[in-house]
Amino acid sequence: MQYRRCGKSGLQLPAISLGLWHNFGDVDDPKVYQKTLHTAFDNGITHFDLANNYGPPPGSAEVNFGKILHSDFKRHRDELIISTKAGYLMWDGPYGDWGSKKYLVSSLDQSLQRMKLDYVDIFYHHRPDPDTPLEETMAALDLIVRQGKALYIGVSNYKVPEAKKAFQILKKMGTPCVIHQPKYSMYERWVEDGLLDVLEKDGVGCIPFSPLAQGLLTNKYLKGIPKHSRASKAHGFLKKEAITIERVEQIQQLNSIAVQRGQSLAQMALAWLLKDERITSVLVGASSASQLLDSISCLNNTHFDQSELLEINKILD
Ligand code: NDP
Repeated sequence: MQYRRCGKSGLQLPAISLGLWHNFGDVDDPKVYQKTLHTAFDNGITHFDLANNYGPPPGSAEVNFGKILHSDFKRHRDELIISTKAGYLMWDGPYGDWGSKKYLVSSLDQSLQRMKLDYVDIFYHHRPDPDTPLEETMAALDLIVRQGKALYIGVSNYKVPEAKKAFQILKKMGTPCVIHQPKYSMYERWVEDGLLDVLEKDGVGCIPFSPLAQGLLTNKYLKGIPKHSRASKAHGFLKKEAITIERVEQIQQLNSIAVQRGQSLAQMALAWLLKDERITSVLVGASSASQLLDSISCLNNTHFDQSELLEINKILD
């Protein structure tokens, strides 16, 4: 594993981190995800990313992760970076969603109880709240750090203007934002239009989520929709409608370039992100240990020739 510095902070993250959005809920097989967690840690993945609402049902990924953490990894707690978030709907009423201080503080307390932890390493505001003053949301993050419930804080899904403002407010309070978690992959490139520059300037790390576009940028859907794939599951966020004939043709073309590079498409898609040193870590999901092992091997080649980059851009246009 390679470790990269997170912006200008003291924190280093593995180039590949594991996210528990899918595949770790009560609907999933504990033996399978236990093996995935062991494979991750045994291969140097020290960072595990959660959120209050991961499951299904919401909260179950934190409970299931907490169980394995305490049974199998307890003595390794200080070797791990565990993150969680709040920002999406979690409970009924006006205090279980968005970005008020009431919601963020209560939600983190619930997450800590579910995982049976005293603190998380990173706590994120999951998405911007158009109705709560940014000062209040940032003050909640600052408070959480001062209370010792999180060591570092981050934001996710913040666009450039709100991210800039958030970083300024946090800096003034003495609790700098350490990391931003945006959606970024070959299929989702908005961060290239300014966000990455802002992060670099402000010394904030970047951990792209869904770097494989939920499985589209892998060999999974080259020949239809396989059983047990995310697109085949009722609770999966990847919808069958996203797998159009045009999409599959494009994936096949990208796959040919990957084959020429001696990589799987997943490896090429991850390497393509990691070629940029501003990317601290790529946050992958995995429904099996073997998928994760395949993804980790992207680190064997993160270099791209100019001609390869041009060819990829042409396919994506
Ligand atoms: P990916 O884009 O990495 O997709 C993961 C899926 O791709 C897997 O479940 C699997 O699909 C397939 N896959 C993974 N590796 C391989 C491989 N090597 N070969 C073939 N198929 C593979 O990421 P996710 O969408 O799962 O997101 C990753 C993490 O990002 C989440 O767990 C979460 O922590 C974070 N996230 C954050 C969000 C935010 O708003 N901040 C939003 C969404 C995610 P299958 O299950 O079909 O086998």
